[in-house]
Amino acid sequence: MQQKIRREDALDYHAKGRPGKLEVIPTKEYNTQRDLSLAYSPGVAEPCLAIEANPEDVYKYTAKGNLVAVISNGTAVLGLGDIGPEAGKPVMEGKGLLFKIYADIDVFDIELNTKDVDEFVRTVKILEPTFGGVNLEDIKAPECFEIEERLKKELNIPIMHDDQHGTAIISGAALLNALELVGKNIADVKFVVNGAGASAISCSKLYLALGAKIENFVMCDSKGVIRADRTDLDERKAQFATSRDLNSLEEAFVGADVFIGLSKGNVVSQDMVRSMANDAIVFAMANPTPEISYEDATSARPDIIMATGRSDYPNQVNNVLGFPYIFRGALDIRATEINEAMKLAATYALADLAKKTVPDLVNLAYGEANLMFGRTYIIPKPVDPRLLATVAPAVAKAAMDSGVARQPITDWEAYETQLAR
Ligand code: NAP
Ligand code: MG
Repeated sequence: MQQKIRREDALDYHAKGRPGKLEVIPTKEYNTQRDLSLAYSPGVAEPCLAIEANPEDVYKYTAKGNLVAVISNGTAVLGLGDIGPEAGKPVMEGKGLLFKIYADIDVFDIELNTKDVDEFVRTVKILEPTFGGVNLEDIKAPECFEIEERLKKELNIPIMHDDQHGTAIISGAALLNALELVGKNIADVKFVVNGAGASAISCSKLYLALGAKIENFVMCDSKGVIRADRTDLDERKAQFATSRDLNSLEEAFVGADVFIGLSKGNVVSQDMVRSMANDAIVFAMANPTPEISYEDATSARPDIIMATGRSDYPNQVNNVLGFPYIFRGALDIRATEINEAMKLAATYALADLAKKTVPDLVNLAYGEANLMFGRTYIIPKPVDPRLLATVAPAVAKAAMDSGVARQPITDWEAYETQLAR
């Protein structure tokens, strides 16, 4: 269970010792003059020339292949909003820490002082030689969509905006399992999605790829139901416009099977939840305050499956279940992109893992006797040590099968063993 974090504790944690959360550590010997002559001049000229002759050798002789840029302009940081690039830096360093501890990926966090899409895209593009991959982070909508789309076209390394796709993958896995538990088919269920921003649009698109039908969606934004007759919609919202005559979120709830909340706190009532179909699935993911509290939703009806973005309740949709392992798999086969097939593979791998027997270590970490696949355990826990050797190979395989792997894996057993170590 989550302990209350005090402001001064959080500030002390960041300030103590060397300020911040990351440092750079050499990976080669540097004790003798000879070591230094190899590390730098004159020895270093040899890998330079080798790479000049064969650019792919940059992966052989430099840290590029295990180095991910976490890049933000600080315009949509956590739930804090547009707090600027410096203020966003603790989050980006934190993301670097998570990449390192969960998947041994090294991160340079990069905070850009620009809100201009062209300038952002150009900057990331010219950084490409340095990195094996790019994790775009906490960039506000709608700029985040164009930035990612353009960079995916222009770069030859894997790139993912985690706030969009990470959320989609984790909640997609949770959704598949929740539907399995209640015996409903994704193609038949009715969705009401509150929020039409970066995460809501991306989640809804992934659910479509998982088999949901677009005619079964009703989406709402801050102005209400996204109806076909609204004239203020951009193309991303317009694709989810409903032709049903619905005038409020409350009306949209009636008879729905699944609620997806990616909007803001306390906008859903117990009565709305009560008006849903049997075995209601409620993912209220606004952070830190969900659309409806866990207590209110679960006391509104007994037949509910509830998930939130919070660590102090069951079924936390936590992006850390995805990004370290998705990038691990993508880097290990030197993917040229992170494509739909890779995202779907990560989703299915996470969903499957939740159905396997939970290791003692995980039970222990959560003070549980026996976590088991069911209504209050539909997605794996972040401390589960099997995540790396489960999700990364699934992503790598999907990259190979979809033709974006530049360095295919041949010995899967050896790869999985190496990851499990
Ligand atoms: P975003 O791009 O800013 O989108 C927010 C969306 O919510 C916008 O479409 C906005 O409408 C809509 N909205 C605001 N107030 C609303 C209301 N009262 N009723 C209906 N819609 C409303 O933000 P985001 O990155 O998608 O994140 C949205 C929320 O989800 C945040 O609370 C975030 O913390 C949370 N989140 C959680 C997870 C997780 O649990 N793992 C992951 C990602 C995001 P307009 O389009 O009209 O402005
Ligand atoms: Mg984020």
